[in-house]
This record gives sequence, structure tokens and C-alpha cells, in this order.
Amino acid sequence: MTHQNERHCLITGGAGFIGSHLAEALLKEGCAVTVVDNLTTGRQANLAKALSHPNFRFVKLDVANRELMAPLVAQSTEVYHLASYVGVRLAAYPSSSHILNNLRAIDNMLDLVTHYRTKFQLSSTSEVYGKAMDVQNGQVTSLKEDTDRIYGPTNIHRWSYSGIKAIEEFLTLAKYHEEGINAVIVRLFNVVGPRQIGQNGMVIPRFIQQALQGEPITVYGDGAQQRCFSYIGDVVRCMIDLMKTPGASGEIFNIGNHIPVSILELAHKIKEFTGSRSEIVLVPIEKAFGTSFEDVLLRIPNVDKLKKQLGYHPTTGLDQVLIELIEEAEKMIHPYSVRH
Ligand code: UDP
Repeated sequence: MTHQNERHCLITGGAGFIGSHLAEALLKEGCAVTVVDNLTTGRQANLAKALSHPNFRFVKLDVANRELMAPLVAQSTEVYHLASYVGVRLAAYPSSSHILNNLRAIDNMLDLVTHYRTKFQLSSTSEVYGKAMDVQNGQVTSLKEDTDRIYGPTNIHRWSYSGIKAIEEFLTLAKYHEEGINAVIVRLFNVVGPRQIGQNGMVIPRFIQQALQGEPITVYGDGAQQRCFSYIGDVVRCMIDLMKTPGASGEIFNIGNHIPVSILELAHKIKEFTGSRSEIVLVPIEKAFGTSFEDVLLRIPNVDKLKKQLGYHPTTGLDQVLIELIEEAEKMIHPYSVRH
């Protein structure tokens, strides 16, 4: 690690799918990068590329450890806070430790960036909107940063994730107003790309794996639910550019592609692109997650604010992303075969 770099970026949760891509993009920009991760959901293998870079450092550490986090924040000029439990599968079952870890982490990070006056970016999620589009009878056609949030009851644990991430946003905004810290909040919409794993529920890696292994492609419910998938490369570009934009501080930005696809259509595309013989099966949501789970039908970002601020928003098309991911997954299964 050299000390000449003007920008020293700290990424919490940086061994995850998004954080590892962010680390690589920041290294490309000439920043020094430190990743902190306790490796509960993150994987050191995600950092294989970054680890060979002289300006990169990985520290296996829990963000809740304030004493050990303090010197790392002190050395940084900017902090990207991604450490969190992720994925509907993890959020679907009650876990007090998940909730408390997130709260301890944001408490620590906000105190430390306030003390050291470090620029801060909170990675939040489209989950914060809850089911805002589903229950408004078509009146809300896309989710704007100031759209009302609508959640289900607290005994449906899925909603804990939206609640926690919303509290993280509230705390970040409160510190911005009280302490004048430089802080921006990004709400990410269904980010996809290489290294994402299906283990925690994410639909695209799951469908690709099922298709390539000839297993049934499991569409939950009737598959009419829609999502907008955003390409990781586009998303990290926006995250980095927002961090550089002084006018973005104190603001919340949706980051996402705005073109929706239904999950059934997605399953058909993946079946077609992989040439798989897998059958597409409709699985009742209770079978996948039990009775105390609710799925979200519609989640479409309004990206006007992002476009106004940066002049662009994520646009890489779904087909292009799927082709790349299928090629990558095929290489993992048959490392020495070349597809023509
Ligand atoms: N989904 C599905 N089959 C799966 C995994 C997910 O039909 O094997 C559906 C899921 O119910 C949801 C959508 O795909 O409606 C997106 O799920 P994901 O967990 O990727 O993202 P999120 O629900 O957070 O938008």
C-alpha cells in the first residue's frame, strides 16, 4: 500500500459482490483502497483481482468493532458503507443479530466519519420503498426518492430489512444536518453482474445455475412480478461519481436501470439463452418461504434525479448482461471448453 494517493477509499462490506467491483473501479481511478469485511456473506475470492494490486488492502474485521475501525477511517478520505446482511433469503427469517449488527455498524461508521470528517456514502436499497407501487392501484408508476414508503406488518420478517435500511438513512441524514458531514445515500435497484451468487436468493444467478444444470427453473408465484435489473459496472460508476459531486451531499439517489421485466419473462429468456431443457415451474411463494413472507410485485426506479445530477443513469440492457453472466457461469462449470 503506497501513501501517495490523494484519495484513500474505505469500503465496508467490500468482499461482497457490489463492494468487490467498487474496489476494482476505485483502484482503476488511482485510489488507494481498503476493504473491511467480516466474511459472513462476503467472500475473499471476490477480491482475487484487487488483492494483487499494490494500492489495495483487505482487513478481516467486523465493522461493529469501533476501536479497530477508528484508525482505518482516520486514514481514509472517503467511506463507502456497504456492510449489511443482504438478500431476501436472509431477510426472510427473523434474526436479531442481523438487525443489531446493521445498527451497530451504522452507529460506528457515522460517529467515526463525523469525528474524522470523512466523506460518507450509505448504500441503501430499493427495499426501502417496501410495496409502495403494489398498493397504490397504479397511481405510482415509478419510485421517486420522495415516494411514500409502504411496508407490511412486523411479523412478516422481510420488512425488517426495509425498516433497518430506512433507519440507516434517517441516521445518516440526521448526522448530515446536525454535524454537517458530507454524506450521500444511494438506493440500489436489483444490481446484477459477475460474482453474484444465488445462495441468498438473487434470482438471476439462481435461474442461470438451474438452467445450466438442467434443473427446474423456479419462478415464485405466477411470475408476473416485475423488476429492473441494473448492471454492476454502471452502478459502481454512479456510486463513484456521486461521491465526487459536492451537490449530492445530504441527498438520496435511486441508482438503477428503469426498464422492467417480469420474472416469468426472465425465466424464458434464460432458458432460451442457455439452450436449456429445464422446465419452468411456478412455485407458490409459501412453499419457498413459508406463510410469513410477502413478495413485492413491482419495483421500478424513477431515475430523473440521478440523470439530472450526473447526466446519465445505468442503461446496459438485460440481454447483454445475461449473455455475459451465462458465459461466465459456463466457464465455471466447464473451465476448458470454448463456446462457438
Ligand atoms: N424469484 C423467483 N425465483 C427464485 C428467486 C427469486 O421467482 O428462485 C423472484 C422473487 O420472488 C422476486 C424476484 O424474483 O419476485 C426478484 O428476487 P430477488 O431476490 O433477486 O430480488 P428482490 O426480491 O430483492 O427484488
